[in-house]
Amino acid sequence: MKHSVSRKCGFPVNGLVILAAVSALLVACGGSSSPSETTTPDPISQHCGELSERPWCDASLSAAQRAELLVSAMSLEQKIDYLAGDDPQASASGDPYVGIVNGIDALGIPPLRMSDGPVGVRGSPATAMPIPLALAASFNPALAHETGAAIANEVRNKGNDLVHAPVADVVRNPLAGRSFETFGEDPLLATRMVVEWVKGSQAQGVMANIKHYLMNTQEGIVSVPPVAAVVGGRSVVNAVVDERSMRELYMPPYEAAVKEANVASVMCAYNYVNGAPACSSEYLLKSVLRDEWGFDGFLVTDYFFAQKDTVQTANASPMIEMPYGVFFSQPLLQAAVQSGAVPEQVLNDNLTQIFRRLFSVGFFDRPRYQRNDDNIDQAAHAVLAQDVAEQGAVLLRNEGVLPLNDDVRRIAVIGASAQTRPSGGGSSFVTPFRFKTPLEALTERAGDDVAVSYYDGSDIAAAVAGAAEADVALVFASNLATEGSDRFCLALDCTLADAPDSLLLNNLQGGAPTLLDQLTDPVFASSPIREVLDQLFAPLLLGAPLLPVSHDNQDALITAVAAANSDSVVVLQNSGAVLTPWREQVNALLQVWYPGQEGGSAIARLLFGDTDPGGRLPLSFPEEELDNPVAGDPRRYPGLANQAEHSEGVFIGYRWFDQQSREPAYPFGYGLSYSEYSLTDLRVIRDEGGVVVTARASNIGDRAGWVVPQLYVGLPSPAAGIEQPQRRLADFSKHWLAPGESASLRYQLSSRDLSYWDDSAKDWAMAAGDYQFALGWSSRDRVMQQQLSLGGL
Ligand code: BGC
Repeated sequence: MKHSVSRKCGFPVNGLVILAAVSALLVACGGSSSPSETTTPDPISQHCGELSERPWCDASLSAAQRAELLVSAMSLEQKIDYLAGDDPQASASGDPYVGIVNGIDALGIPPLRMSDGPVGVRGSPATAMPIPLALAASFNPALAHETGAAIANEVRNKGNDLVHAPVADVVRNPLAGRSFETFGEDPLLATRMVVEWVKGSQAQGVMANIKHYLMNTQEGIVSVPPVAAVVGGRSVVNAVVDERSMRELYMPPYEAAVKEANVASVMCAYNYVNGAPACSSEYLLKSVLRDEWGFDGFLVTDYFFAQKDTVQTANASPMIEMPYGVFFSQPLLQAAVQSGAVPEQVLNDNLTQIFRRLFSVGFFDRPRYQRNDDNIDQAAHAVLAQDVAEQGAVLLRNEGVLPLNDDVRRIAVIGASAQTRPSGGGSSFVTPFRFKTPLEALTERAGDDVAVSYYDGSDIAAAVAGAAEADVALVFASNLATEGSDRFCLALDCTLADAPDSLLLNNLQGGAPTLLDQLTDPVFASSPIREVLDQLFAPLLLGAPLLPVSHDNQDALITAVAAANSDSVVVLQNSGAVLTPWREQVNALLQVWYPGQEGGSAIARLLFGDTDPGGRLPLSFPEEELDNPVAGDPRRYPGLANQAEHSEGVFIGYRWFDQQSREPAYPFGYGLSYSEYSLTDLRVIRDEGGVVVTARASNIGDRAGWVVPQLYVGLPSPAAGIEQPQRRLADFSKHWLAPGESASLRYQLSSRDLSYWDDSAKDWAMAAGDYQFALGWSSRDRVMQQQLSLGGL
């Protein structure tokens, strides 16, 4: 057996010089501790060991007893060793893990391997699932459970113990580069998805690591993704946010993951929250996560410098620094212990908590997970990927052309993204096991009797001519999004040059000039420097390693095709909310998000009506750029001097549209089926625990399909000055109904479901007054409403 205590590199770091430090780190420590050198994949050696020598290996003891015994046998050096990762290059290696904490063989501690992520395993071919936003659009938590299980199964069969997923961040800013990795703008929907994803994953014996706690609401702009953005960058930005907004919007998915899913691990975010680094915030880590919610798992830092110091972080929480020990290097942590700034007992307590969790999930007692793709049921996971793509596809418009019928003999397929696999960039990028393009899948499904012609859209005139000759024109459009950089605007094709009209409207608000103002100042804009910057950044900004799917002006392509053929259908394979200025001109609009490796087949089945589009929007689609709650005020976004004021408070997403009385292009919760449904028999009754809402949903159309009733509740204002959103999602369900079939609906709401965060009491509270219960098809389409007067709590 090889001895595998890791070698760590300690060196002084100025947190602001992140890029330089990362490069130095990679050079200085490169290859020092690659897992192949330090851990031999020998299953026998992975079992804990002889009880006589290692009493903590006694599985009849409790996890707590075992953890204490183990920690008491560790030297200070060994303790420090296990508090940080050991391979900073893993994510670039092509191996299916992104981080490892080397084991300590002398003590029977196995290496701990960590993998990304929310869309599937990163680093070697894996099932590329639809993006989490598509999963959220399915409004089907059971699918989140299955997805968590399938991804975790691959994570495990690629030799990993923990998965950096799911993303529990709620979308505040639709421009945010990582919105595609989230479950959308509503905390309840996100919570339901996160909880089931975590349960599914952990049932596979893989620890879930939800991320990024907390307020990772933006990536920033002007950047080299995924490393650093200059303006409002995720590593430096401070989210200035009131407690009520955190409690009501941003914390619920994390809270529920702890309380309902017993999540093993939480990743702390790069950013600061109200002045404190998220990775050492006493409020976030101690008061809320541990003391209030009872979290007794462990934290890992986001990769490369989410952790900002040694002492505060060590004192704040059981934390593993990833991917390498910088602040938790031997010299720095030893010095902190010797000086008394970090009592050794604190390290003991932290490690005891980490090991307690590892013992309780069986990590010490089972053979190490082996890397073997043959154990992955690729076919079953492909079926799931397709199911998610279909159930997450949102039909936003249909004037009758869909589903395609037997009269269709000539189809023009238009657009570069019909032949590619659009997907988000950064740590969620997955290389798929297999992929069939939408064009291939459509051609196959159409069969020999239908002529399918293809135009990539680079020549708009050719595409228009092709569309004019066809019975139906299918235009595929996409956008680019990546970790490490926000989008500049919500248009499909958006580069730095588009920014002035969207982001930088601070003159409207009288804000001070930002760097971007200067970049987009008319004088500057026409200067050669601007051109150089454009050249330099534009390709990098939006995911250089990704496909340049656009031909610069997809909006113009769509408009031109729609003018040539009244039966034009737009298929959007994109990262999130986009502007759809042409929507009234096209016959149909199908939103499939980045649909994963089975997206082509799903699209073909959806267009031909082999199944029903099951998705509803998990975030609002704005009419225009300024509808974004953070648009027009650089103090909100990207933040002045890296202070991002979340002054919109609890009014994000549809709560914002409602408060501002703005009409979205498509509201939260919206999506059509090929069938039609009715809602009847609404009853709202007070019961002991809260309120019960019942009703009936019926398929009154002539096709089987998905019905997704949504219950919204409007809370009374508890006092002058405490404004409530007009409504918020309180529950939802999803049913497959045959024609004529109906489902009885029952939603049980607890008093917490009907509470707001009372800042003065620092607790949840129910106001006395009239509560509005509305059941409908979206945040704007409320079919039935009932009011109930409830006393306060
Ligand atoms: C991302 C995390 C990811 C980690 C490891 C970071 O840059 O923010 O979400 O899990 O890298 O790939």
